[in-house]
Amino acid sequence: MNSRVYNFSASPSMLPEPVLKRAAEEMLNYQGSGQSVMEMSHRSKIFDSIIVGCESLLREVLNIPSNYKVLFLQGGASSQFAMVPLNLMNKNHKADFIITGQWANKAYKEAARYGNARIVASSKDKTFTYIPKTSRADFDPEADYAYICLNNTIYGTKYPELPDTGDVPLVADVSSCILSEPLDVSKFGLVFAGAQKNMGPAGLTVVIVREDLIGNAQEITPTMFNYATHAEKNSLFNTPPCYSIYMCKLVLEWLKNLGGLKAMAKINHKKADILYGFLDQSKLFHGTVVKEDRSLMNVPFVTGSDEMDAKAVKAAEAEGFVNIKGHRTVGGLRASIYNAMPTEGVEKLVDFLRRFEKENA
Ligand SMILES: *Cc1c(COP(=O)(O)O)cnc(C)c1O
Repeated sequence: MNSRVYNFSASPSMLPEPVLKRAAEEMLNYQGSGQSVMEMSHRSKIFDSIIVGCESLLREVLNIPSNYKVLFLQGGASSQFAMVPLNLMNKNHKADFIITGQWANKAYKEAARYGNARIVASSKDKTFTYIPKTSRADFDPEADYAYICLNNTIYGTKYPELPDTGDVPLVADVSSCILSEPLDVSKFGLVFAGAQKNMGPAGLTVVIVREDLIGNAQEITPTMFNYATHAEKNSLFNTPPCYSIYMCKLVLEWLKNLGGLKAMAKINHKKADILYGFLDQSKLFHGTVVKEDRSLMNVPFVTGSDEMDAKAVKAAEAEGFVNIKGHRTVGGLRASIYNAMPTEGVEKLVDFLRRFEKENA
């Protein structure tokens, strides 16, 4: 068997090795059922223990208040760009957006199809290298919700603190930061995440939504896009992404055994400090984001020369540091260091970058 690479992909990304091993062990015969989780009925008792177990673990690890529903959906985070306005833009048909990159912009454009979407602030003027500052007065008190992308996967920024939206419910795309550190869910009306960054394999989208925001979807909302449909049936209205839910449960068990989100945050801060610490003193590489808004999960950096960037990407790949090429709109390199990236992977990457810098000085 080939040894595993350090995969710095923005997504799908690495999964914890103990999780993959456990899944492999249970592949042919899940807990004496004589079947793989991929083969069993989603209405069976045994699968029920998986989906119920996954939800209760997520509630425990994320400390989700009891007046929030957890929904296990499909369609990716991108489907939420439509589902959120269809379900929540239902009183004054207005929503406020902060544009911090492509994902927030896609959400804004989609919402504009279903109501009055307004841009409150944007960091487009500086290629999304910072998080715009806002105050309560910037938000329309009549907006049905205010929308942010909490961690910007492409540009490597993260809100250092949440915007104050007053009584307007805050909705956040947390696809690339969920489970990376504690999150106070009670500060939000709704958060959602595609699983393929920090929760499990692709195919599962998790929505955590305050109960009072469910049940008033716009008339045109397709049944499958109505949160009430899934909330009423505990995510079993139709076939859920069974195997991804099972994998997510294994990831949550791994996270809980590690000490939960406080312990995870400590590890993630250590990893980020190692990488940013190197970048801050490097004469060849530098980070692209203002210091106070740096992401814990996605670290873009450049040399300033496209040829040198390409050379570094190629040399990195040759040493087993894969998928480290930057997004085409930023260029350079991007190391996504999600939960499953071991500290050792970041240390070895920095050793490599240091060597590369010396050889190319
Ligand atoms: C990856 C990502 C998405 C897109 O997720 P899909 O599941 O592919 O639709 C949306 N928002 C953020 C912040 C992301 O990182």
